[in-house]
Amino acid sequence: MTAPSVRPWSYRRAMVAWLLALLGTLPACRATHTSISAGLPSKHRVTGDQLSVLSDIKLPKQHPLLKDLEQLREDVSQLLDLPMQQQPVTVYLFADEQRYANYLRAAFPELPPRRAYFVGTSKELAVYTYWGDRVQEDLRHEYTHGVLHACLADVPLWLDEGLAEYFEVVDAPLGWNKDYVERLSQSLANGWKPDLPRLESLHGVAQMQKADYFEAWAWVHFLLESDSDTRQILLDYLHELRTNPSPEVLSARLDREIPRWSDRLLAHVSTLPQNVPATSAIIPASGITRQ
Ligand SMILES: [Zn+2]
Repeated sequence: MTAPSVRPWSYRRAMVAWLLALLGTLPACRATHTSISAGLPSKHRVTGDQLSVLSDIKLPKQHPLLKDLEQLREDVSQLLDLPMQQQPVTVYLFADEQRYANYLRAAFPELPPRRAYFVGTSKELAVYTYWGDRVQEDLRHEYTHGVLHACLADVPLWLDEGLAEYFEVVDAPLGWNKDYVERLSQSLANGWKPDLPRLESLHGVAQMQKADYFEAWAWVHFLLESDSDTRQILLDYLHELRTNPSPEVLSARLDREIPRWSDRLLAHVSTLPQNVPATSAIIPASGITRQ
């Protein structure tokens, strides 16, 4: 039996301990889910490349949010050198927070309230969220989880969340989380020391604290963007994850191949504040016509 992967939107509503129990009760979860499937959005359906959106509100196929997710899928594939995922991701987009919350309470009574969820099982890679001011950010975050889980045998928690945080932001340049840059700068000033082996030891989202999401993003940003040698190590690791769900941890590879890699992360983070982009390209949900 394969346990479902449940990824919350972010640390802001960190997973609580009883979710760990849910991870070991897949049959019950599936049964409960199936029994109330009538509560899922089903009025409108838009199908794209390996993406199906079931929504309460009508979204044209050319809607900016859907085009954005299609582009995101290509960006994830291209930047991480992964094959375009074949397993589809289904997005359940509720009309409003109340209907979404009512459904989540009924389908997954163990889960605490959050703006969005990714739930991956052997049957379905599903994203649940609602139309709100941050719908684009939430969809990008959860859809990234979906694309990764469709391509890879498994994804270590720290890397799954770090990549989702990286790709959720649509500011230019891609992956630049301005808020995290500022918070990490404050942490550096207070003597923060990165610790990738500690992050790698976290296996439940209930264990991940606010600062852990900052650090996971920082490692992803460092690995992808500091230099070609760090990028290649991450790409090789992801390549192995396509067929091996539990390869050697990434920090062990860094130990062998990158001298003073932890110091290099610190140097990378310390230069980030000088490069924060001035403008945001996020599409405000309030400016999008539902139709
Ligand atoms: Zn997440």
